[in-house]
Formats: sequence, structure tokens, C-alpha cells
Amino acid sequence: MRFFFTGEEHHNYSLLPIFAAMKAHNLHVQNSLTRRKEKFEPLEEGYIGMYVCGPTVYDDVHLGNCRTFSSFDMIYRYLVYLGYRVRYVRNITDVGHLLDDGEDRMSKGARLAQLEPMEVAHKYAERFHDMMRKFNLHTPSIEPRASGHIPEQIQMVQDILNNGLAYVVNGSVYFDTVKFAKEQKTYGQLSGRKIDELLSSTRDDLKNQDEKRHPSDFAIWMKAKPDHIMRWSSPWSEGFPGWHLECSAMSTKYLGKHFDIHGGGNDLKFPHHENEVAQNMGSCGCTPAKYWLHTNMLLMNGKKMSKSDGNTISPEELFSGDSQHVTQGYSPDTVRFFMLQTHYGSTMDITNDALLAAEKGYHRLMEGIKRLEGMKGIEGAGELDETWINMTHNAIHEMDDDFNAPKSLAAFFEFITAVNTQYNNGENTIGQVALKEVIENAHALVFDIFGLRPPGDSSTTSMDGVMELIIDIRQQAREDKNWTISDTIRDRLAALNIEIKDGKDGTEWRVK
Ligand SMILES: [Zn+2]
Repeated sequence: MRFFFTGEEHHNYSLLPIFAAMKAHNLHVQNSLTRRKEKFEPLEEGYIGMYVCGPTVYDDVHLGNCRTFSSFDMIYRYLVYLGYRVRYVRNITDVGHLLDDGEDRMSKGARLAQLEPMEVAHKYAERFHDMMRKFNLHTPSIEPRASGHIPEQIQMVQDILNNGLAYVVNGSVYFDTVKFAKEQKTYGQLSGRKIDELLSSTRDDLKNQDEKRHPSDFAIWMKAKPDHIMRWSSPWSEGFPGWHLECSAMSTKYLGKHFDIHGGGNDLKFPHHENEVAQNMGSCGCTPAKYWLHTNMLLMNGKKMSKSDGNTISPEELFSGDSQHVTQGYSPDTVRFFMLQTHYGSTMDITNDALLAAEKGYHRLMEGIKRLEGMKGIEGAGELDETWINMTHNAIHEMDDDFNAPKSLAAFFEFITAVNTQYNNGENTIGQVALKEVIENAHALVFDIFGLRPPGDSSTTSMDGVMELIIDIRQQAREDKNWTISDTIRDRLAALNIEIKDGKDGTEWRVK
């Protein structure tokens, strides 16, 4: 992995200073590639390269994606806490993601809305970023876009062709999975599909119009149909890259041919990630990531989320409470707390009861931290010094077990119970120095690693508070028949793209 990209020149980045001192740890991760929990050992001591498959920006991000990105944000935050210098790359797919009918998702979104594809991409990328901010996610170190890396993708297609692992048909280029599987004996390793099973399907399974030699072959370059809007010239045709290719090209560009962690939702394991591995192997002969981490899916009321039977909820509906599945709105921090209660690798069931409990849990957590912060330690040593330092330290390091946030949270709640007991007893038996360390540990876990914020601290809740204030002032003005003030407030808000509506249940507002 290179930390400074300078063409073909490789910097010895291990000589670069590590900014924070490394903390002793015993991190193990569940590696999808080997199906084992393994001791985490970075390729270069002190440095980590991590690639996570980002959103396809033709529509709003759904709650399952939010869970995936929140999980990797927590993973990133923990690695940084341990003292690693992490280069975190999360892409934006704005070209090449095919629908079942073979149409590019971006092009289809644009065609339906009569917009330029880049207009669609821009709009939804902005909305995606807004949503990530609501959940308090760190921005990645690099957020490359597929459309900005066409030359790199063309080069990778060329490399795979040069290695004899792809073929050209009518201007499109297909990856030859049969040849790859026979030569490398690895296709299917990540998804657990057996090569024999893959190869047992014959040419008869192919549709007549299909140009592929084998059903498991996949396009790495597609010739654009005449009405296809997004197209680039290449040695083979005017067209666009296959979806799987962008992640191979961009992870290689920014993290090198072999890097530490590749992540994504487990729905991407096959074919997306399997094909990424094949492409990297097929172009440079090495498997891209040492550790593959996958987040699991969401259920709602015990069933798979599905738009067609209405068993779904968007993040916005969850925040506003505007859904038949919830009795009220939940703040992004409550939702994030709720997500932390399930390990990222397990399915997570969303129910209103569980969300209500999470809201209580979140407030209990924040209340406990406030009490802790309000404590005054005694001079010298106190009885609880060692116990409390150990409790908070151990709660943090439960994360060493494959980023086990639920275990970490449970251990931290034991500590909160101890704090509450102290608070109720009114005794003070902790030393000032120890207390400082305990508070630092609590802050590190809850704010830095879990990414939670105190109530009222998130951008949405503070905006809610400000709007409530403005609406109250306007209401007072209306009661006083001061129409100048009430109209000025409405007009000035409209100029800021905030619309207010007076209804029978009071005044509502929304950002236009
Ligand atoms: Zn990807």
C-alpha cells in the first residue's frame, strides 16, 4: 500500500511517523475470505488501508446501507483509537451499475427524470452525504467516483486481456471465469461457491442474445447501445466499465495491489466482491485484501425488508415517525445506538419496541456520562480508582473481539450502573487523577468510537430546537396581531428554503 501516490514510484511509507502512540490490543476479526476469526495483523505495522463499497447514487440511500456505513465508521473509529493511521476509501458508484434488464442504473434514473446522469449523481450524492452527517459518520479519507477513474479501469481491462483472462465480443469485454477458475483454482472462495458447481452450468443456460461464453462470465467493459448516455471511448468500443471493475481499479489506485481490509454489505459478496477478487487476481496476480469484512442485513418485525409488501422504512421516516411501523420518530443518535446493540455481522431486527428501548438506553447512557462528568474526585488515591479504570478500559477492549459493540456496550452499562450507585450514595471515593482517566475512557468509547452525540447535539435536533423557537415567536406575533413580524419570519425562512405550514395541529416546517 502506498500512502502517497506518485505514479509508479513506491514510497517507503512505513518511515512516515505514526501520529498517535499505538495502544496495546488483541484485535481479532471475522474474515469472510477464510471464514475464520483471525488475529488482525496489518500488512505494515501502524498503517491500515481500508476499502468499503459505497452507494450507487441513483436513488436515496436505504436503511440497510446506513447500517453498513455506520458499522464501518465504527470500525474505522476503533482502528484510529488504537493508534493506526488509516486510509479509508469509500467510493461513489456513478456509472456502470447494471440493472437486471441490462440498463445502467444511473442512465435509467436520468432517463426517467429527464436529467443529465451527472445531475442525478450529484443530487443523490449530496443527499447521501447529508444522511451520513445526520448519523455523525466521519467522511472517508478518499471518496473516489467511478466516472472519474475511467482510464484506470480501461487499463485494468487491458491488463486482464493481456493475461488472457478476458475476451472481446462485439466491442464488449467479458471476464473468462472458466479459464480463471481452472488456472487459479480460486473463483468462488469468498462466496463459498464451488468452482465445480459454477462450471457445471453449460452454454445451454445462456440466453440466445447473450455474448458470454459461460453464464458466470461477467462484463468488464460494455459497448454502449445507441441511446446510452454515459459513454467513453476505449480500444474496444464506445462504452462504459462494468460495475465490479471500479472497486478493483480504485482500491488498487489508492491502497495498492494488496491492502488490509475490504468491506461492504454481505449482499455484495457475490457476485460483486467475488468478481473484484477475480479481476485483481486476473490483472496483477494478487488478491486485493487480506481481510474481508461483511455487514449483515436488516429485518423489520422479523421479516425481510421489502418495498413490494410495504415492510420497509426509510431513514427519514424513522426520524420523523411518519410510518405505520413506528409510533414516534427516533433521533439519528437513538438509531445509531440501536444499531450498536447488534453485532455488525448479525442480522438486525427493527421493531418499534426495540427502538423505544434503545431510546431509553441511549438517554440512560448519556445521563450516566453527565453524572460522571459532574463528579469531583478526591485528592490522592480513592477506593474505586483501579476498578473504574479497569471497567472502562475493558469495555473499550471488548471491541477487540471483532468490533463487538454489543459486548462493549453491555460492559459499559455495568460501569454506568456503578456510577449511578455512587451518585445515589453521595459518597465520593475516586481520586482526581483516576477520575480524569475514567472520563477520558468513557468519552473515547461513547463519542469517539461509537460516534454518539449527547442529546441535542446532533445537527437535526439542534435545528429542531431553533425552528421550534422561531415558530413560537411567530405564533406570539400572530396572537399579538403583529402581522409584519409574522410575515417577515415566514418570508425570511422561505428565502432560506424552509417552508412553514399552519395546520390544525400547529405549525409544521420542512426544508424545501
Ligand atoms: Zn464495490
